[in-house]
Amino acid sequence: MTNTLQITDIPVAGYERVVRGVDPSCGLHAIIAVHDTTLGPALGGLRMWPYASEDEALFDVKRLSRGMTFKSAVAQTGLGGGKAVMIGDPKKVKSEALYLAMGRLVDALGGKYITAEDVNTSVGDLEIIRRATKYVAGLERKDGGSGNPSPYTAYGVFLGIKAALGWTFGNDSPKGRTVAIQGTGAVGSALAKRLAEAGAKVYGADKNVERLKQLEKEIGLIPASEADVMTMKCDVFAPCALGAILHDQSIPKLDTPIVAGAANNLLLEPRHGKMLADRGVLYAPDYVINAGGIINVSVEFHPGGYDEKVALGKIERIPQALKELWTISKEERIPPSDAADRLAERIVADARGAKKTTSCAVPPRGRTGGGG
Ligand code: NAD
Repeated sequence: MTNTLQITDIPVAGYERVVRGVDPSCGLHAIIAVHDTTLGPALGGLRMWPYASEDEALFDVKRLSRGMTFKSAVAQTGLGGGKAVMIGDPKKVKSEALYLAMGRLVDALGGKYITAEDVNTSVGDLEIIRRATKYVAGLERKDGGSGNPSPYTAYGVFLGIKAALGWTFGNDSPKGRTVAIQGTGAVGSALAKRLAEAGAKVYGADKNVERLKQLEKEIGLIPASEADVMTMKCDVFAPCALGAILHDQSIPKLDTPIVAGAANNLLLEPRHGKMLADRGVLYAPDYVINAGGIINVSVEFHPGGYDEKVALGKIERIPQALKELWTISKEERIPPSDAADRLAERIVADARGAKKTTSCAVPPRGRTGGGG
């Protein structure tokens, strides 16, 4: 088959490499953004979305890619941050040729970027991409991958909620506590099950009414309406559906001392972290509490290959990471979301500095007799 993939660089300040891949033969129009590989190869999912323009796609992939650098830095995955987006309507453009072309685009970066599942892409799509490149993570266990990340994300969020309860009430037990979950999808339903097992009273809202009914039967979840789930009186509000839900209009209506959930980019703008803090709401920064999935995937890159025990051990550090952020937040009087960003930036800057120092510390061979 002739290769009609055209790859062009898009210069973007602050990003290591951003490339556009276009293949008219199959309709591929994609962008890969590698934000930072100081800590390791840039791992981040491949999203398909009907963006209205390339500028819109570029804006999204830049934001998501930088977010992955921060998430992996704080979670100590040994990975950097990157992301890829394909422009198109998943209902119309999906094809084998499209994913093979996408695989060739990923491969062209030579391992600087590793792709994975994200919105509107599946493990099946990754399996096609895998035929064109080895730089793919998150495949099925039977194929040597780490499998579905959602239960691991849910486990991390569950532990994070316990930490938040302990921080707020002096007792981390969910028993008797009321938790309102927005979105009982892959992560939200696994979280609901863990909370119910631990004795919490769990409310849930979802567009998928069947799923709510199923959870009502299985674990005694109490269905809530989409409108009420964010404003009801509860001990924890756990957003596990959409991003950008915390803003000027919604924050004053919250009736909870804790917001801790799986959804990404929950704050509409960074200043909304301060707005939460000013209202006395403890916030678990999204990319810290929801890192269980990326931690699980990252273990695929360990020398011995994927090992669930290693993954669980690392996920169990999430509560400690959160407590450190809340401590910084208290001592420095900054919102936890700002504390997380500062910590991530410092981890990357320190690693960059250490790399430079190491390369400067090695005396050049021949001049000073180095190497001995
Ligand atoms: P999912 O698509 O399986 O579940 C999302 C659920 O939210 C769906 O059931 C959907 O019907 C529901 N929903 C959509 N709009 C809603 C609304 N307005 N009110 C109530 N419910 C609504 O997705 P998921 O994998 O469970 O991920 C949930 C969130 O967590 C997403 O924001 C995702 O980006 C984030 N996240 C997921 C993982 C993971 O491992 N899956 C990791 C990190 C972050």
